[in-house]
Amino acid sequence: MTEWQKSDWRAKPRVQMPEYTDGAALNRVESKLSQYPPLVFAGEARRLKAALGAASRGEAFLLQGGDCAESFEQFSADAIRDTFKVMLQMAMVLTYGAKVPVVKVGRMAGQFAKPRSAPTEVVDGLELPSYRGDIINDLAFTPEARIPDPEKMLQAYTQAAATLNLLRAFSTGGYADVHQVHAWTLGFTEGEKAARYRDMANHISAALDFMTAAGVDSDRAHTLQTVDFYTSHESLLLEYEEALTRLDSTSGKWLAGSGHMIWIGDRTRQPDGAHVEFCRGVLNPIGLKCGPSMTSDDLKQLMVKLNPQNEAGRLTLIARFGAGNVAEHLPRLIKTVQEEGANVVWVCDAMHGNTIKSSTGYKTRPFDSVLREVREFFGIHKAEGTIPGGVHFEMTGQDVTECTGGVRAVSEENLSDRYHTACDPRLNASQSLELAFLVAEELSA
Ligand code: PEP
Ligand code: MN
Repeated sequence: MTEWQKSDWRAKPRVQMPEYTDGAALNRVESKLSQYPPLVFAGEARRLKAALGAASRGEAFLLQGGDCAESFEQFSADAIRDTFKVMLQMAMVLTYGAKVPVVKVGRMAGQFAKPRSAPTEVVDGLELPSYRGDIINDLAFTPEARIPDPEKMLQAYTQAAATLNLLRAFSTGGYADVHQVHAWTLGFTEGEKAARYRDMANHISAALDFMTAAGVDSDRAHTLQTVDFYTSHESLLLEYEEALTRLDSTSGKWLAGSGHMIWIGDRTRQPDGAHVEFCRGVLNPIGLKCGPSMTSDDLKQLMVKLNPQNEAGRLTLIARFGAGNVAEHLPRLIKTVQEEGANVVWVCDAMHGNTIKSSTGYKTRPFDSVLREVREFFGIHKAEGTIPGGVHFEMTGQDVTECTGGVRAVSEENLSDRYHTACDPRLNASQSLELAFLVAEELSA
């Protein structure tokens, strides 16, 4: 067999990718991007893979979260900080409950390209190509805005680089120091959840004071002052992915330099398709979305292609069946994994199977459905004796009203108040934290 090349995907059938009309402009952008520095480094991707390997054995737990689609217009340092902060809070709650390290992975710094259920959309009788994410076209409903523009890849790269720069600073510059556990309390998390969080924060502070008094050495203290925070996105726009792929001189393997972890969406996981072809050749941890239409046979083929060495931490299966459907699909896929003796991390994406249209016309997700899917996921792993390795949420640190429910009950009428997502509805900060407490209960049960 000839060796994998980063452009091999071009010979395979592709779906959900734009048809660029200006080939010369596309080539210019690709050659520029290929000269830019990678956004992430091979050693980091390997470290994440090791951490996910621990999650596959139940020795760690993955928390993956962030926007459905990052937006150029809503890009701001405060928004990044707030999402980062909520993820730290959630991780703290989960660590406290689960008594294992939480692996933190943002849907950030590259989550720009979107698969769509239909190639066009119709508004007031006008039919236009669908919005495919800010890296491809524009949300505005005009014919010009919907033309795929390769130049947008450069803006996406710049935004991803700036986002990563900030995340790296937050992770190691003192902000994520666990001694700040009280300071992470967001202004608007008042009420019962905030009280529970403060209570937990008090316990953690007391434990830290004890460790200091007992003279815990400074090496140990360092692990409490910084966090490992990783980035991830759907590997959908393969021209962008290929252009950021680099050879790792240490291992002689290829690295997708666009993010630490990349995943394959539920619509682009054809075993002989372009997306699987690209992902199989890079060393990064790979996620694979598993929806109700995933057959055992598909999964078998995909596991062989994506993880031929059966490396722990290489492959994360992200189940997204919808509340009420988990019992029908998860056990049969768990059986397939067991029959193959495959090492995988099982993760629950409790968002994508639970999208509905509200009576007020908004795409939304009821908090109760999200929670129910998480509970079904844990219940089935318990019954099967397998390991629930993590959760995957669309969430933001902003106080948006996009998903209904939660203790500070967002109603269908409230959705219009602060509905800001460019694509799917996200949990707001308070809903996210609430969910973390509920997941922690499942983990410690
Ligand atoms: C997503 O994660 O935003 C997404 C489109 O998911 P899926 O491929 O599972 O539908
Ligand atoms: Mn989404």
